[in-house]
Amino acid sequence: MARPEGLLIMPEMPTASDDMPATAQPVTIQSRAAQPMADSGLLCLQCEYNLTGTIAAAEAGKGENRCPECGMTFNPNVLRARLAGTPAPIEIWDDKNKSIFIRYVKMCLITWFTPWRLLKMVPTYYHKRSVILFQYITMVLAITIVAVANHRLFLSYDISRSRDVLTFAISIVVVWAGIIVCELLLKLPIDVGQRWRAIVGLFRSFTLLSVTVLGVFTNFNMNLPNDFLYALPTLCWWWLALSLAVAHTKASVAARIGYILFIPWAAVMSIGTSTGIMFIVELMIFR
Ligand SMILES: [Zn+2]
Repeated sequence: MARPEGLLIMPEMPTASDDMPATAQPVTIQSRAAQPMADSGLLCLQCEYNLTGTIAAAEAGKGENRCPECGMTFNPNVLRARLAGTPAPIEIWDDKNKSIFIRYVKMCLITWFTPWRLLKMVPTYYHKRSVILFQYITMVLAITIVAVANHRLFLSYDISRSRDVLTFAISIVVVWAGIIVCELLLKLPIDVGQRWRAIVGLFRSFTLLSVTVLGVFTNFNMNLPNDFLYALPTLCWWWLALSLAVAHTKASVAARIGYILFIPWAAVMSIGTSTGIMFIVELMIFR
């Protein structure tokens, strides 16, 4: 059956299920030149180059599905699915072929030392449960570290120490509440897409694990100097890591600078809130 030439432009329209028949006739240069090409919105997953023309040319048999900007090969159907909002796996973290221990350690190392890589690893649409799993593992790990480090405190039957146990338990809950407040604040200021929510979620490994390890470390080494000496460099490093990720987003320069300057305030606000809650709870219980 003969098709009118104009219809061959249709596969470039952004629809969720437009599978071009494999036997489609090639589009001639003349017909594409005659009608302006509609922007398909399909972007390279690596460099976000607009692939509308590349895909049209490949489907016309005049080239391959390879990004002209960065050289990455792609599957147009995968790009269309992502554009339609179908969740895609987070690189490394969703790779079910590797053990979860290795994946978790790798994700922590990336978050802590090369945070800008997360922007390329997290797709626009991802499985939310995947990030939630990461956050739960971090919670369980932190609880385990605290419980192991304090097993004597928790096993103590000495009634005179019950206040220590309670204070300790309250402080842990308050610190974690503070971290969650901080995460919520960090998601607010700029909207650089859904991906940012995942990146802030992955940063929990940084804040929670460092707070836990440093807390345990300083609480049980009484001859060490002030906690502040350890907490301050950790906070600075966290700020630097998050700022590096922000700097690599596609947001405007003003939005990125504003966000980077906002990060310390988010931390101050969450620390302030936590300290306030802690103070009130202690007043109420121990008057
Ligand atoms: Zn590219």
